[in-house]
Amino acid sequence: MSAPTSPENVDVLVVGPAPTGLMLANQLARRGVRPLIIDRHSGPAQQSRAVVVQARTMEIYAQLGIVEKAIEQGLEGTGFNMWSQGRWRAKIPFGDIGKGLSPFPSLLVLGQDDNELIMGAHLKGLGVEVQWNTELVAFTQQPGHVDATIRQPDGKTRAITARYVAGCDGARSPVRELSRIGFPGAPYEHVFYVADTEANGSMVPNEVNVYLWRDGFHLFFPMRGKDRWRVIGILPEELRGRDDLVFAEVEPSIRDEAGANLSFKACAWFSTYRIYHRAAEKFQDRRIFLLGDAAHIHSPAGAQGMNTGLQDAYNLAWKLALVAQGRADERLLATYAAERMPVAQRLLKSTDRLFTLFVSKGLFGMLLRTRLAPRFLAFGMTVERVRRLAFYTISQIGIHYRRSSLSKTLVGVAERAPQAGDRFPWLQLGFQPNGQVEDLYRRLDDLHFNLIVTGQAAPTVSGDLVRVHAATANAANATELARVGIAGPAYYLLRPDGHVGLAGTLFDASVMSRYLADCGLRASA
Ligand SMILES: Cc1cc2nc3c(=O)[nH]c(=O)nc-3n(C[C@H](O)[C@H](O)[C@H](O)COP(=O)(O)OP(=O)(O)OC[C@H]3O[C@@H](n4cnc5c(N)ncnc54)[C@H](O)[C@@H]3O)c2cc1C
Repeated sequence: MSAPTSPENVDVLVVGPAPTGLMLANQLARRGVRPLIIDRHSGPAQQSRAVVVQARTMEIYAQLGIVEKAIEQGLEGTGFNMWSQGRWRAKIPFGDIGKGLSPFPSLLVLGQDDNELIMGAHLKGLGVEVQWNTELVAFTQQPGHVDATIRQPDGKTRAITARYVAGCDGARSPVRELSRIGFPGAPYEHVFYVADTEANGSMVPNEVNVYLWRDGFHLFFPMRGKDRWRVIGILPEELRGRDDLVFAEVEPSIRDEAGANLSFKACAWFSTYRIYHRAAEKFQDRRIFLLGDAAHIHSPAGAQGMNTGLQDAYNLAWKLALVAQGRADERLLATYAAERMPVAQRLLKSTDRLFTLFVSKGLFGMLLRTRLAPRFLAFGMTVERVRRLAFYTISQIGIHYRRSSLSKTLVGVAERAPQAGDRFPWLQLGFQPNGQVEDLYRRLDDLHFNLIVTGQAAPTVSGDLVRVHAATANAANATELARVGIAGPAYYLLRPDGHVGLAGTLFDASVMSRYLADCGLRASA
């Protein structure tokens, strides 16, 4: 190793340009903070791994300006077909499950590799290039910065002085390990397999097909292209513990459940992986942050992994950007861990329960999987309340930060109305005297705080931190607002990530100023 001469100064060093790191880097760059983003590999990953993009992620993609690309390259998931013992049992429709709740009412099937390519291209458009073949090898935290050492493609090391380091470096996170942050949890006994295949069979085209069997399940996700299916499942017990396993050896067990007419014409990628449930003991250690798989890993049940990492990044980015630009005190950064750790803990518990139930052994487990679950789920999804609850949970639009120090609901706000900490609901509202109705999410600018005011005159606010949106007083707006429990005068100050910071009734500029000051935010540059 040759000693570096003069250290390079960066605001944020992002380690790992997989989904989480790419989202963080994009969000920082569009907020005017140029990150240094590095990866030890020679280029983007070739394997799809996660395949489901949830509605909340799509909403963020829309703000970022990449949602059209994602939709163009992905497939809308319109339903789950449940099969057992060779027979089709039920369909769980979710084509419009989130109708009225999100501009993206279903889910998108799009490989992680494609998500990474789209975000990587966007980042390049913002003037930031990933430094490939560049590895973080060491760092030490100093009072006002982090001294990091990275190994470059030529094998030489380079010194970096970073104000902050974001560990988006996966389950074996060197950032977490170098920081000696524990990662307690345990592995599951099950081993998953994943294969990108070309196949024909009983699968309902363009929909997700789930083959439930005595010991587990095989999931077929439709991918773009003729007969392309991503198959994920639990490896039969007798095949576990083998490093040399090939897809052909798993095929017979899939065919046992999915029918003899299933034929695989090609397999472009096959891998097995053990799954764990673990969460880091801390998501922040002074100037170091952990995000995505570096902070939490869990069973893929519910297709939450990649999406949760993206939400971590969206939560941290606006805070880091404001602090880096001197627009907020450093204490704002502590709210990242305070808000995201409970989300990860809940996720670990819920995916653990769901997964354990779905792989439980014995007669009950088998009956549950093959007989009860398809009927129960199919019936449940015909009940409006169950559908809504399922969408809120799985799509991640129901995640809230009500207990955060950034969430303040004032006296008078109706219980049924959005509360501080909630993602503000998706509404169609008029803001012009001519009554023209707008999609609120298209109107909101996630580079700023947004103040939504209803039932009162538009206030003037000082500084450039907050954008004001005053809904016109008319019957259409009143009906739309009543749908989400808002009646009479109300105001909502939304954080840049769309969550409500301050909720009140009659707007008072001094209350908002105090709120911003309490959060360590400055209204003007
Ligand atoms: C085989 C497989 C299948 C999966 N299938 C699913 C699925 O079906 N559904 C689902 O939701 N999830 C799935 N997952 C999990 C999903 O892929 C992860 O949740 C997701 O990749 C997490 O993204 P991330 O950006 O946080 O970390 P990662 O994708 O792990 O990326 C970490 C990055 O950091 C880089 N890095 C590490 N150390 C250093 C260093 N010292 N210096 C520089 N760079 C470094 C790595 O090269 C890598 O690019 C699967 C995972 C695997 C392994």
